[in-house]
Amino acid sequence: MRRLQATLDRIDRKGYGAYRDLAGSYDLGSFTLFVDRVQRDPFAPPSLVRLRTEENGFAPDLFENPVRRVAFEDFLTRRVEEAIRGVVRGSRGSGGSGRVEVQRPSQVVLPRTAMVVKPDYVEARLAVGLPARGRTVDARAARTVLLEELPEVARRSLTPEGVREGQARGHVETVEDARYLRGLLPGLGLVAFVADGAVLPRESGASDRPLREGAVPFESPEEFRVALDLPNRGSLSGMGIPEGVTLVAGGGFHGKSTLLSALSWGVYDHVPGDGREYVVARGDAVKVRAEDGRSISGVDISAMIGELPGGRSTEDFSTPNASGSTSQAANIAEALEVGTSLLLVDEDTSATNFMIRDERMRELVRREPISPFIDLVRPLHRSLGVSTVVVVGGVGDYLDVADRVILLEDYAPSDATPRAHEVTRVFPPRAPLAERAVRPPRGRRILASSVDLGRGGRGRETARSRGLHAVELGRERVDLSSVEQLAEAGQTEAVARLIGRFVAAGGVREMRGLVEEALATVSKGGLGELGGFRGHPGEMSLPRAQEVAAAINRIRSIRVVPDT
Ligand code: ADP
Ligand code: MG
Repeated sequence: MRRLQATLDRIDRKGYGAYRDLAGSYDLGSFTLFVDRVQRDPFAPPSLVRLRTEENGFAPDLFENPVRRVAFEDFLTRRVEEAIRGVVRGSRGSGGSGRVEVQRPSQVVLPRTAMVVKPDYVEARLAVGLPARGRTVDARAARTVLLEELPEVARRSLTPEGVREGQARGHVETVEDARYLRGLLPGLGLVAFVADGAVLPRESGASDRPLREGAVPFESPEEFRVALDLPNRGSLSGMGIPEGVTLVAGGGFHGKSTLLSALSWGVYDHVPGDGREYVVARGDAVKVRAEDGRSISGVDISAMIGELPGGRSTEDFSTPNASGSTSQAANIAEALEVGTSLLLVDEDTSATNFMIRDERMRELVRREPISPFIDLVRPLHRSLGVSTVVVVGGVGDYLDVADRVILLEDYAPSDATPRAHEVTRVFPPRAPLAERAVRPPRGRRILASSVDLGRGGRGRETARSRGLHAVELGRERVDLSSVEQLAEAGQTEAVARLIGRFVAAGGVREMRGLVEEALATVSKGGLGELGGFRGHPGEMSLPRAQEVAAAINRIRSIRVVPDT
């Protein structure tokens, strides 16, 4: 502590660069402060520090296995965030002076670099704007941040004295139950489960928090109700969505997209109070949509789209500018390539000509390369074991191909399957449906050398995230705004670094193997493996294989060779 104080006294009012002398570690009594990276100036990205407690005094059951540990780390990260809000005065001085930040968790629980719980210590990774007056060191303010505020943050959020253990245990047990619940799905022949009482709608289009006022809790139709037992919570009931083709129908604004979106987030575990704690889907579920303008590289979309104008084959389809339908077809083929057992499709974000073609158009337009998705959903399940939940308000033809129909009225679901059968008897399918077989799309091998990490202004190679929805690779900015199941920016950062590592390693790698291997390495050694400064890895969260592949697939320069 004295050493830190002495250094601060010595560099007070010197040029900001003098802060460099702070790098190192300091014993502050009940914890150690590591200053891993010192920012160059007050306006640069903040300095990186770690707070490590002397011991881990928490009850060992809170972190006794990997699932519980990740949940407990998530819990503590949120306590750090709270403590910062309560303790740190915030901006004082120029640039980011005096700000203290921790990686901001979304509504889902993920392995993150922000927090490490070990049997003998707890460590939080933070970013601190070292205070400046103009461009000179403000030692007094720095002393307040480092020697008063940080210790208080640590006391409130990293020690058993500052944290409510009952709340922590509730957090951990909720996550453990959700995991368990998701694990039950295949054995029950289900692709998803929505608990009775779940709150699906969100606060707003811009907020993933639960809608507070006027939310109608979910209540399963009797016909789909499944009762289960969870290890911590005990009995739970809700709607089970079986494998096969499930149609979600209903009038506009009756909650269809909200239900589908909740299912798409069901691949992750949620924090207590989210409303979707017990809404789970198969962990490999992919929400697919149209994304015109995206680039496509060597994707086999032949199951969905036949020969294109000019005799272009679609087994190895590339374009720098996909149409609505070709982009949606590629999104499906790519999801199958990396592995999925559940596709989630919403009419709101689909290309109409991809979803359906009516009899008149079949008659008028003879040279139509697209086999609409409606012809594909059953074969996808029969041949490949891939189930679909599709939201359709306006296209009754889907009634012919659905194994069941969930009807939403005023946000309340009912089983409309029998009624749908009646309707199809009265209005029979106009054209007999062609049941055909589909084969999985051909795999691809990716040429690492086709990605140029560039030499930016400083001659460095770049592979980093820009917020939640973009990755910067050299001069290329990869647009991920249609990759809907990215939950938080930390995942995007991890995706960027994984791509950076793949490019650095070079060679030609088969997509699925590449992604699986990359994630296996990370799950063994931790996200910290992906680089950082000294002990501070930066802000990362674990992505899924589906999102890593999605990012690679959207690199415009990527070149592939078909798998042989
Ligand atoms: P649809 O896709 O059927 O047109 P949405 O899912 O977009 O409808 O929902 C329409 C509106 O209703 C949204 O603002 C959504 O937040 C809200 N909403 C959805 N489900 C519920 C619910 N269970 N309780 C209250 N509001 C809901
Ligand atoms: Mg909708």
